[in-house]
Amino acid sequence: MPVLRDTPKDAEIISHQLMLRAGMVRQESAGIYAWLPLGLRVLNKVQQIIREEQNRAGAIELLMPTIQSADLWRESGRYDAYGDEMLRITDRNKREMLFGPTNEEMITEIVRAYVKSYRSLPLNLYHLQWKFRDERRPRFGVMRSREFLMKDAYSFDLDAAGARHSYNKMFTAYLRTFARFGLKAIPMRADTGPIGGDLSHEFIILADTGESEVFCHKDYLDFATPPANTNFDDVAGLEQTVAKWTSLYAATSEMHDATAYDAIATDKRVSARGIEVGHIFYFGTKYSEPMKALVQGPDGKPVVMHMGSYGIGPTRVAAAVIEASHDEHGIVWPVPVAPFEVGLINLKAGDKDTDAAANDLYTKLERAGLSVLLDDTDERAGAKFTTMDMIGLPFQLIVGPKGVKVGEVEIKERKTGERATMTMDAALRRLSDLVSARRFLA
Ligand code: ATP
Ligand code: MG
Repeated sequence: MPVLRDTPKDAEIISHQLMLRAGMVRQESAGIYAWLPLGLRVLNKVQQIIREEQNRAGAIELLMPTIQSADLWRESGRYDAYGDEMLRITDRNKREMLFGPTNEEMITEIVRAYVKSYRSLPLNLYHLQWKFRDERRPRFGVMRSREFLMKDAYSFDLDAAGARHSYNKMFTAYLRTFARFGLKAIPMRADTGPIGGDLSHEFIILADTGESEVFCHKDYLDFATPPANTNFDDVAGLEQTVAKWTSLYAATSEMHDATAYDAIATDKRVSARGIEVGHIFYFGTKYSEPMKALVQGPDGKPVVMHMGSYGIGPTRVAAAVIEASHDEHGIVWPVPVAPFEVGLINLKAGDKDTDAAANDLYTKLERAGLSVLLDDTDERAGAKFTTMDMIGLPFQLIVGPKGVKVGEVEIKERKTGERATMTMDAALRRLSDLVSARRFLA
């Protein structure tokens, strides 16, 4: 965990500064990052939550390669259209390849090879895979990088109505996913860009450092997240959820309608900066038509499948959570994405009794299913506190020689700064209760 004491000068935004200071990532080339152990733990947690919510909504995971053939992209007509953002590669046999910026073509090729009947639909396949986009201005660390991780899901349906339901499933799954990261993401009407299509929402979190200019109704910030027992097969139910979450004004600057915005009561208007953490599209037959992805319909006639695609950037999300949750001392991780749930500080490493108590508490917490980072370095106490606050683990358990003599330790909640001294057994129970209460979203 290579923590830095000083703020790196070239990092402009707080999340980038804190990710470098906490030793989460390291830049290897412009816009290309190594994920160091602490950062990787966050990235893994983000991915796990995405998986759980994708699976809950009926999507199925697979894994497509990063390298794709240019010919595949010629089929859809996007090979030339994509431009300089695409990293084009030639292999030893002079075949034109590329590092995938997205996977619409490849998934369409896979599905058309196997899915022949309407009975196999609806189908939604997703993967979590590295993408490369040669961004003109990679900046803000992993927030806008060239190589980045994306969860991209692709839905296939028999008709537009089916595709609409698939869209609604992902819309609802995204609301839950971002809420589990501790983020308030607002779905905003969005431009469809090079992916194409006519129905699209960007999921945006409000942050001063965001690159998008957004306008929305304030009440979205208090809307309740759809529950874990949401029935994703309930067409009308999901329609209602989406209707509610699109009932008030919310748009990015590209889609902004000043008249509609001005109709909002003045005290309910939010005009702010935002970070795009997810983006969903329905684009009908844009790829399935040129790529001839057909199934046999109920009447035996061939039907071109309707498609949608649904992206979340886990690497950007890790940074976005920090933008949304930090204070003057550093990161404040929400429990569900924290690299460790508890930071155990041994105030006097090398002291026999203190070491024994700290190691015992470490074992017991791990056995109780909590993830614990043990600081048994020989730094000064002050430096240990500063580092633990900076890396932002939700709870601290502080073990020192004085307390150990009387069987007591201290618990600190990072977010509130509240501290309490108690017996070791009470501390173990307390931490278990606090952590488990904050792990899940009902
Ligand atoms: P942006 O408008 O920010 O350039 P985009 O609209 O090109 O993004 P999409 O194709 O919608 O991106 O990709 C889906 C998700 O992937 C985005 O919502 C974002 O979370 C993530 N993402 C896209 N580009 C990057 C990038 N350069 N670095 C990190 N994450 C990214
Ligand atoms: Mg987008």
